[in-house]
Amino acid sequence: MRLPIIKTLLPGPEAARLIETDHAYVSPSYTRIYPLVVERGEGLWVHDADGNQFLDLTAGIAVCATGHCHPRVVQAIVAQSQKLLHMSGTDFYYTAQIELAEKLAKLAPGARQRKVFFGNSGAEAVEAAFKLARWHSRRELNLAFFGAFHGRTMGALSLTASKAIQKKYYNPLVPGITHIPYPYCYRCPYGMCHPECGIACVNWLEDPLFRTSVPPEEVAAIFVEPIQGEGGYIVPPPEFHQQLSKLMKKYDILYVADEVQSGMGRTGRMFAMEHFGVEPDIIALAKGIASGMPLGAMVAGADIMTWEAGSHASTFGGNPIACKAAMATIELLEEGLMANAAARGGQLLVGLRDLQKHFECLGDVRGIGLMVAVELVRDRHTKERAADWRNQILQKAFSRGLLLLPCGENAIRFCPALSVSRDEIEVGLAILAEAIGEVAG
Ligand code: PLP
Repeated sequence: MRLPIIKTLLPGPEAARLIETDHAYVSPSYTRIYPLVVERGEGLWVHDADGNQFLDLTAGIAVCATGHCHPRVVQAIVAQSQKLLHMSGTDFYYTAQIELAEKLAKLAPGARQRKVFFGNSGAEAVEAAFKLARWHSRRELNLAFFGAFHGRTMGALSLTASKAIQKKYYNPLVPGITHIPYPYCYRCPYGMCHPECGIACVNWLEDPLFRTSVPPEEVAAIFVEPIQGEGGYIVPPPEFHQQLSKLMKKYDILYVADEVQSGMGRTGRMFAMEHFGVEPDIIALAKGIASGMPLGAMVAGADIMTWEAGSHASTFGGNPIACKAAMATIELLEEGLMANAAARGGQLLVGLRDLQKHFECLGDVRGIGLMVAVELVRDRHTKERAADWRNQILQKAFSRGLLLLPCGENAIRFCPALSVSRDEIEVGLAILAEAIGEVAG
């Protein structure tokens, strides 16, 4: 069983030197969790600048879906880079983009014909969806959720309501967006309990929101993460999306699923919305789509994507190398990694629920597939958030060679590569248990 190897103090001397240079030259706006300087990676393992080896359960923020530098993805990148680096889908056709568009259009849930717009990131995929929804509907208003993270460009940021710091001093943003409570059943915003609530969070939209304040005939789209990601890996109750989508259909409001984090096999299905039986009008994709190459995609019903030439484009969007990396990624997902995500996600949930029996501070364990989180609380009854314990646990895990990320105010997220093995999950759980024991045992 492979274990992390930590042979220096962290950061080691070379990492410390590089971090000093980083502080001199790199934007201070990034939120680095711990002093890790990554030099190379393979599978679930990364090596830092001093030769320390870490077990990575973050996959570079849910991006390296096939593991670091999967040989088939690298091979696809090398082969394409020897043929064509760039041509631009804005003005030219090229094979790699056409092939990927066909693949994504056919993968999207439902029988509806689909078309694809390519960008370079999650924010660009959301931005494109935002523009298309307006263009198609000629309506000006939009709905999004508290806790949502949709990206940081001005349009996507206007839809985001994750942390105030992300918006501070950037106002005015795009007007006409109303944020509504997400179905966070562990801390129900309405103080109710599922299923007795009757999905009050959906009913509330029709009355009072539409009745008193937001005319639904003016709403272009609702932007929703199937499982809220940065907000805390919050899984809504099973009937939520169907009821919400039914209500939106009633008023011709487009259902935009932001699958940037939850999509591309992470939950054990290609798109997380498949778990909820909803076929969104528009899907935003990025992160895991190309195993680390920058790529974003917006997949929409062909009946919706009717905008005219010149309405929207991107010089780099859908770069041929990124498209080939995406094709290789999708093949690997279909050949077994998606099934592995479901199996390993189940193992991880069982392991965390076992830990919950030993540690009172583990308030809620939740997730689907390899989109799993555990919420740290001071006390299980009051559910008082223990963000400080969460932060300390992340540091302790790091010092033992385990990479984890936070999400929400007080949760730890697990979003490893979909290629993670049974042993790697066990090693991760064992190190986590030591870290929790040291902080809040
Ligand atoms: N949408 C969701 C659900 C995300 O999780 C993220 C990033 O975390 C984004 C959009 C923005 O993606 P990017 O950082 O690639 O712009």
